Amino acid sequence: MDPLIISVAVTGGEHGREATPHLPVTPAEIAESAYEAHVAGAAVAHLHVRDDAERPVHDLARYASVANRLRERCDMVVNLTTDPGGETTDEERPRSLDLEPELASFDAGTMSWGERVMDGSLPFLRNLATRMRDADTKPELEVFHDGMIGACLQLAAEGLIAAPLYFQFVLGVPGGAPATAAEILHLRSLIPPDSPWSVAGIGRHSLVTAMAAIPLGGHVRVGLEDQIYYRRGELATSNAQLVARIARLAEEFGRPVATPEDARRILGLKGAERTGFAAAAVAPS
Ligand code: ZN
Repeated sequence: MDPLIISVAVTGGEHGREATPHLPVTPAEIAESAYEAHVAGAAVAHLHVRDDAERPVHDLARYASVANRLRERCDMVVNLTTDPGGETTDEERPRSLDLEPELASFDAGTMSWGERVMDGSLPFLRNLATRMRDADTKPELEVFHDGMIGACLQLAAEGLIAAPLYFQFVLGVPGGAPATAAEILHLRSLIPPDSPWSVAGIGRHSLVTAMAAIPLGGHVRVGLEDQIYYRRGELATSNAQLVARIARLAEEFGRPVATPEDARRILGLKGAERTGFAAAAVAPS
């Protein structure tokens, strides 16, 4: 079984500090929080950024600022969002790929998300996949229900996504698939057998899905984007706290925690030296 890749979803584009005072929002805070999570065991940092009013924003200079601060301190894999939240239009969403990250999120279709619709038509997905292919960025295929796997396999058959296909099962979103062990087994049965997969359980489901994934060979995403509570009634105080719990579970199961280099090998990533962060414009702090 491969070492366990722990991804940390550092801040997200949904809730702000009104939800939890522990959310990092400036580039310096986001980089510091990601680094602390790395020390606790995270190999991958999934990044969103915020503007000065703490709203989600798709700002290349801010992404580069976080990535370059991280790179000064560790070799963590940077995974940029292509669905930043806030006011970003579908035309703007692929823009983070201009930075040619090693890894980027790829919401793999359409779904009701609570009161809104997450819109991922096949033409949009083809365009996003083509942009990722051209940037040599590995898509993290974010699967919120089983129909999205069919779309991913179709794009792979069209030559737009290369093996190994890397799936992130995002479970427990209102409107999406449930965060249960049975659902993980079902989704896993639909993907190519050599595909690495990970689980991000949203909210209180996070621990259940991580517990199911670790002995099955899956990987795990946690972080303040996905859950603000550590346990019932108790806010998580940091991303590192959430990551450290997953690392402890892995140890109990006898599964080593992946380094960033392990993650690059398992996911087939191009390496940090081939990203465009260093060349990007200097950013605000
Ligand atoms: Zn995200």
